[in-house]
Amino acid sequence: MYSKLDNQGNLITGTTVILIVSLVLIVIFIVNSINYMESENIDSIENDNFKYIIEDYKKNLEQIGRQSIAEETEKLYHARSIHDSRKEIKKIMNDKLKDVNEEYNKKYGMDIRSEVVSVESTDSPWKVLFKVRVKADKDLQQFDGILESNSSIEGLKDPLPYAKIPKINHNIQHQGDRIYYFETLSQYLRKNGIDSYNSYLLASAPLTIKKCPYDPYIHHGDGNTMKECLDKGYFHESADGSCYLCRLDGKGVCPHYGMEVFIQTYHFDNNDSVSCSDHVVFHDHYPGKRLLNISVDSLILDDSHAKKYGLI
Ligand SMILES: [Zn+2]
Ligand SMILES: [Zn+2]
Repeated sequence: MYSKLDNQGNLITGTTVILIVSLVLIVIFIVNSINYMESENIDSIENDNFKYIIEDYKKNLEQIGRQSIAEETEKLYHARSIHDSRKEIKKIMNDKLKDVNEEYNKKYGMDIRSEVVSVESTDSPWKVLFKVRVKADKDLQQFDGILESNSSIEGLKDPLPYAKIPKINHNIQHQGDRIYYFETLSQYLRKNGIDSYNSYLLASAPLTIKKCPYDPYIHHGDGNTMKECLDKGYFHESADGSCYLCRLDGKGVCPHYGMEVFIQTYHFDNNDSVSCSDHVVFHDHYPGKRLLNISVDSLILDDSHAKKYGLI
């Protein structure tokens, strides 16, 4: 009897101990889980913040790239020469990024080191691609990778005229949104062995790059389209014309997908001369004829360009 009671007492005590231990274990488990979830949340907020700063930095590259190209172009417009535009733009952009990196350090406490890896022409003549190697540290988080950014060159000055006919020793000027060649372009053509160079006396061309909206181009022959295009000074995509970066280097043609613009003539000595698309004037030098059957009688064009723009 006593021993039975004893056994029952032991049983109850044992069960109670097991229950208490289980409860304690459950409480420890719950407290741990809550702590873990909280620290995960903090981590992911910090992670998002870090990612946001990198994204923000990437977005800024577009504008910094464009400003770097514009500064390079200004060299030509201030009678300085360019030797290797891609290399020089890289240098300008690296200098700008040094300041930007310092700013990010002050603002976000993030340590950023960057190096422009390349400045490249793209499938579109209106964009330049920048690749920038970026290493960033903040607290225990790191980023190490290449950020890519496309910068538009629309609205920048056309570098080719001033690269071909340097301002330092020529009477070439720009006013409003046009470049005025005076006698310089006809002299340039004379030096290049073109007999009918006189047609390009007092020629002029658009100053800033504006993409022609009259696409497909064959519609330039419709109504007033060609006149509108010339008045606005639009540029056109062209596999034969040079890209913006090669224009900075003074190349009228290049292997990249490029652009072309019409150089307008006003001197009516001669109906035949080189065709007035700028890559022809500055490089290819093949002949064209003055278009007399439409109102834009100042254009001298070869058959293939006249067809491309729907003018014959
Ligand atoms: Zn056009
Ligand atoms: Zn090119």
